[in-house]
Amino acid sequence: SYYLQDERFLPKEEVRISPDDRGYYFGDGFYEVFRVYNGKLYEPEAHFARLTRTSEGIRIPLPYGIEELHAKLKELIALNSLSEGTVYLQITRGSAPRAQPFPAPARPFLHAYTKPLERPLAAMEAGIRAATVEDIRWLRCDYKTLNLLGNVLAKQQALDAGAEEAILHRSGSVTECSASNVMIVKDGIIVTHPADNLILHGVTRAVVLRLARAAELSVEERPFTVEELREADEAFITGTTVEITPVVSVDGRTIGSGSAGPVTRRLQRDFAASIGQ
Ligand code: PLP
Repeated sequence: SYYLQDERFLPKEEVRISPDDRGYYFGDGFYEVFRVYNGKLYEPEAHFARLTRTSEGIRIPLPYGIEELHAKLKELIALNSLSEGTVYLQITRGSAPRAQPFPAPARPFLHAYTKPLERPLAAMEAGIRAATVEDIRWLRCDYKTLNLLGNVLAKQQALDAGAEEAILHRSGSVTECSASNVMIVKDGIIVTHPADNLILHGVTRAVVLRLARAAELSVEERPFTVEELREADEAFITGTTVEITPVVSVDGRTIGSGSAGPVTRRLQRDFAASIGQ
């Protein structure tokens, strides 16, 4: 399959990454994961808006404009005959001998590939187990950067505890998960952390909130506690690859009925309709 390197398409065997890439030394870069349904990018505008926001926030310019980038990704999808899957795109501050100051002139490096992937129908049906983990990450989690060590350690801690996802909290206040956002339902009200600097502003999160409001469900964007999570009627995670996946237990304790609740099911149905399934 083909990779995109800067503006060129190459077979994987011909991809060359510099040992001096700042992504490698410092995690000095940012990324996006796009969903492809039926050969088309899902919610591309929202992903490009987040990419642009991170680019400005961490001062790594995009190597070329969004329109050209969008066209390149469409071309990559076509070259790889991708129907259902993801596009991974990352941009680093480029290559220079290891030193913290921004290299001048900065020449950002772009790297992208596609991966076939099916919808996670089994997990969406059965739900997953989650474990709570202290959120030790930095204070700009709204930037989608390559610095994912906090996420990696949290995910592994959850796996080691026999769960599939880590629900992160700062001193008992739930933020998000290692690779997804999280929402609870209590007395018919959907509650999720506000889109501030402590969480990634998930594209799926925004879609789900839009669907919830369209269905006249009540939504509160406010922090909630681990205690509220444990006492919730329903809980679910949202993300580009997990879509809307129920959380059926937290730290080994059952949430609600122990299977996907009615609000989760309703949102899953509306989400499926939104992607034409
Ligand atoms: N939060 C984190 C830390 C993530 O890595 C992700 C990525 O999937 C999400 C939330 C969900 O964001 P999105 O719905 O845009 O995939």
